[in-house]
Amino acid sequence: MEMNTDIKYLKGVGESRAASLKKLGIGTLGALLRFYPRAYEDWNSIVSISDVPLNETLCIKGTVLHKPSAFKTRNGAMLYKTTVSDGTGLMNLTFFNNKYVVNQLSENEDYLFFGKVALNMYGAKEMASPRFEKAQGKERIRPVYRCTQSLNSKAIEKFVSTALDAFAGDIPDPIPGALIKKYRLPVLAEALRMIHFPADESEIAAARRRLVFEELLVLETGLLRLRGGAGIQRGRKFKADYSGEFWALLPFEPTPAQRRAVEQAVADMSSGKRMSRLLQGDVGSGKTAVAAALIYNAAKNSVQSALMAPTEVLAEQHYRTLTKMLGGTGLSISLLTGSVSASAKRDIKQRLADGETDLVIGTHALIQKDVEFSRLGLVITDEQHRFGVAQRNALRDKGEEPHVFVMSATPIPRTLAMIIYGDLDISVLDELPPGRQPIETYKVDSAYRDRILKFTQKALDEGRQAYIICPLVEEGESDLIPATEYERHLASTYFKNYRVGLLHGQMKPAEKDAVMRSFSSGETQLLVSTVVVEVGVDVPNATVMIIENAERFGLSQLHQLRGRIGRGEHKSTCILVSDAQNAEAVERFKVLCETSDGFKIADKDLELRGPGDFFGSRQHGLPDLKIADVVTDTRVLYEAQRVASEILAVDPELSLPENAGLAGEISSLFSRA
Ligand code: ADP
Ligand code: MG
Repeated sequence: MEMNTDIKYLKGVGESRAASLKKLGIGTLGALLRFYPRAYEDWNSIVSISDVPLNETLCIKGTVLHKPSAFKTRNGAMLYKTTVSDGTGLMNLTFFNNKYVVNQLSENEDYLFFGKVALNMYGAKEMASPRFEKAQGKERIRPVYRCTQSLNSKAIEKFVSTALDAFAGDIPDPIPGALIKKYRLPVLAEALRMIHFPADESEIAAARRRLVFEELLVLETGLLRLRGGAGIQRGRKFKADYSGEFWALLPFEPTPAQRRAVEQAVADMSSGKRMSRLLQGDVGSGKTAVAAALIYNAAKNSVQSALMAPTEVLAEQHYRTLTKMLGGTGLSISLLTGSVSASAKRDIKQRLADGETDLVIGTHALIQKDVEFSRLGLVITDEQHRFGVAQRNALRDKGEEPHVFVMSATPIPRTLAMIIYGDLDISVLDELPPGRQPIETYKVDSAYRDRILKFTQKALDEGRQAYIICPLVEEGESDLIPATEYERHLASTYFKNYRVGLLHGQMKPAEKDAVMRSFSSGETQLLVSTVVVEVGVDVPNATVMIIENAERFGLSQLHQLRGRIGRGEHKSTCILVSDAQNAEAVERFKVLCETSDGFKIADKDLELRGPGDFFGSRQHGLPDLKIADVVTDTRVLYEAQRVASEILAVDPELSLPENAGLAGEISSLFSRA
């Protein structure tokens, strides 16, 4: 028996049950043992019948007074009834359509009954269809498993028990022995026994503590490795700080937060170690200027920089902004995207390889094989959650130990940032440049649509631009507004005399880019769009955003969307349109109307929806966690992160025998993601 033995070979399983188990994600013995109970039933704390509270799930123990007798109800169903006594009182039991109980419950025998107690029509205590088993004097806490139609929790319990017996305590432990000792953790075999079949609450707690630590240790060590080590790599050492010179070039004063972020990054780059830093800043907080300051420093220290953005529109926008900021300094800047002509590309690549270019800005085109640098020393990725770790690493590997700077406009609660960005140091832009007009946000119901469309017309008449965001592209669910159709409708009614554009995810990238460009340039006045409207697109003239079916969007997403407006000198207005009544949606709208702080909103979002949406593998390429809860297990997370970097500092390749188990768990965790 090995942890990776196919589940079908476990005694009592076989082909067809193996198929049911696979539906639950259980393909091997190891996966079965790691299929932790989702809850427990306490068959250990027995309540006396005289004291039972009503409507709580509990366990009683009593003697069956007579074999269950059968009754036919008016609609033909069968009822089986009996009575139980425990010396303190009587309990009626009723079973529906379950003729087997007649033979399963014998007169004068003791049983445990597990279920809820209610009063029947005569005011007597009654348990309806309780689960039961013979009292054997060793009552216990029972695991409850997620199950399927064809496989109930009890069957899974049996398999787990068989598997544990088969291993007889001989289960390899991925946590190195020294750590087990140091933290006084139960070994894996013991922890698995306790998590499935705990003797008491304290065993559940001890097992959980160990399994959470293990899971986070595997995750953090894996992330740290993916990102290239324990943060102790050498990096190019910048000799001098040119930030003061750079700030003097700007038409505005940097905010204290921008200054601080640049100082932190420059300190990293002057330390001799490689910088790995994440810049988190709410939309509009001025991340581009921070990037420019670092690029300027890099150029002055004679290294090249590369800035990668997820779309052409964003890359072009960065190119324009940075050319404006840095153009006067003699830095040579180029733009490399898919739509640059072949001959221009060749030229750009040549100059990059020759070291003539100080900064290249681009899309994924930057990580193609034939792009070479002569002295790449600083790699920046913008809106980085859109890039996989592999893409970021591909760019990094084009330089020799380049410094890495990652910018994100998606505020993430600190705990989650720690997981998602592993070993990255974090700088935060927690203030907006002065003079920004706050975005006024209102929630209205659909009865107001005429009024808000007229309000939008007025904004366009004043020379501004507007967004209307719809949740869907085409007609689907009846009450949702499909973008395509709504655009057609608006363009022929309210906005007949205006230039209206449409943007959605089913368009080709080139079409999307063309639409976005037309909106950026002011040609399109009103853009009807699904959520694909680019994060990071800066159109300061857009001042109105209407979000239809706003209940369809998460809090952070609404905040991101809203960040497309309020970027210029004009006052901006965001209108959430929704007829939703449910408390959670109402709470979301309230938060949005009251605060504009992305970090507060992210915390609230986490509270309302749980970490799933942040942590989903789709968004970040991260594996799902089975037992750790990133919201409540923060302390363990810090600990795991520290331990992970200690392990990698000693054994960067995890090649020592004591780390072999850990290495194995890491590869299986990440292959699931
Ligand atoms: P984001 O953090 O969303 O990427 P940007 O870098 O696009 O934000 O900056 C948003 C706008 O704010 C830009 O027009 C930029 O020129 C302006 N800006 C940035 N920093 C400052 C500052 N310190 N003072 C005034 N305006 C600033
Ligand atoms: Mg930006």
